[in-house]
Amino acid sequence: MVRTRIAPSPTGEDIHIGNLYTALINWVWAKKNKGKFIIRIEDTDQERLVKGSQQKILETINAFGLHYDEAPDRDGPYKPYRQSERLPIYKKHVEELIRKGAAYYCNCSKERLAQIRRIALKQKQIPKYDKHCLSRQEEVKEEIKKGKPFVIRLNVPENKEIKFRDVIRGEVKIMSDNLDDQVLMKSDGFPTYHLAVVVDDYLMKISHVIRAEEWLSSTPKHILLYEAFGWPLPIFAHVPILRNPDHSKLSKRKNPVWASWYLEQGYLPEAVLNYLALMGWSHPEQKEIFLMSEFVEVFDLKDIKAVGPAFDRVKLEWMNGEYLRKLPISNFQFLITNFYKNKLPKDIVIKTIPLIRERIKKLSDYLPLCEFFFKKPDRYDIDLSSKKELLVKVRKELERVKEWKADTIGQTMQDMANREKVKTGEFFMTLRIAITGKKISPPLNESMEILGKEECLARLDIF
Ligand code: GLU
Repeated sequence: MVRTRIAPSPTGEDIHIGNLYTALINWVWAKKNKGKFIIRIEDTDQERLVKGSQQKILETINAFGLHYDEAPDRDGPYKPYRQSERLPIYKKHVEELIRKGAAYYCNCSKERLAQIRRIALKQKQIPKYDKHCLSRQEEVKEEIKKGKPFVIRLNVPENKEIKFRDVIRGEVKIMSDNLDDQVLMKSDGFPTYHLAVVVDDYLMKISHVIRAEEWLSSTPKHILLYEAFGWPLPIFAHVPILRNPDHSKLSKRKNPVWASWYLEQGYLPEAVLNYLALMGWSHPEQKEIFLMSEFVEVFDLKDIKAVGPAFDRVKLEWMNGEYLRKLPISNFQFLITNFYKNKLPKDIVIKTIPLIRERIKKLSDYLPLCEFFFKKPDRYDIDLSSKKELLVKVRKELERVKEWKADTIGQTMQDMANREKVKTGEFFMTLRIAITGKKISPPLNESMEILGKEECLARLDIF
């Protein structure tokens, strides 16, 4: 049974777009194998918790349509799914490690630890705890009984080769001497990530640990824990971290990082997921646009490449535009009205869609382009004061138009431009500015037809 999971920490205002990518890969792998996709909230770092974060993360994952089977808000056979509610489980397991000699108590003072660090850095070495407390466990236990604060550390064996296979990266090897005696249980009784992740992945029967590359260096520590407990290893796959197009780490400055931002801007969830699917993976037929159901069918974890893929918002926008254009017109109209919280008159939205369908890339492009359909311009891209005379004539001419249709309007205006010896481009630009306020607008004749004769004439009465 394939069981995958993500373990987001509720320490930000929402799920990071990079974590949404990891979620997608976990989701697709579970789905492909008819397995289960689990969300476990990793709230062990109590100091970094952000209020409302957990709820927002779940909301966003739901909004993207990544269905999950077990989670804090879903129930499931291995609950609870929030680590802060599992403290007795970690306590029991860390005690087992102590009994087995794989972990030990440590009550070194902050000052002592800081000094070890200072000395190591001075000697240009990576700071590592010196196992000072390991040789004085009885003493430490006595001191703990008297109320002295303590932590529990992993007892990393010396000079041991740690090996594991990663589906994406192949065999990974590291010598244990490079590893620190990591804290497993903090003085507040909360486990650290390393202990909690291993205990929970095992107890929750996770078959595939699919997570971001940044956790690759933690995996050897986890392997030691699996070995100490005598548990079989899950399958590991460390997916690449998304990069900005200039290859720097995806940062707030260059790309918005919260996943819900993309929905707020009117990107379609399925377009974003389609784009994310292409990070480090390509469709066997090199297709760029495909449904999630197809992704499930053709995806294989081992085909993900270890290179850092560029998350390019321009490309995503293009893809989103393609998705919008493919929608049946009624869906498109529904999405627009819904996006603007049903505040725009539906009848006008319906009429405008054929004009802007080819142009907009995301739902939030609609209003800047179409606002003039709903209200008179309150500013003009070009000052029209020198065009007063012309506009008065245009108004008179348009007043005479009987059949208020785009073609007739266009022809009437073209004839007039010829007669008045005004260049076509200039003539229509003046008219466009008067009607829409903007230099760039949907096709003018059609727009004028939609606006109606009365409204257009009123808009020409600028002066
Ligand atoms: N809390 C970690 C994260 O934010 C989970 C890492 C893991 O999946 O093991 O990605």
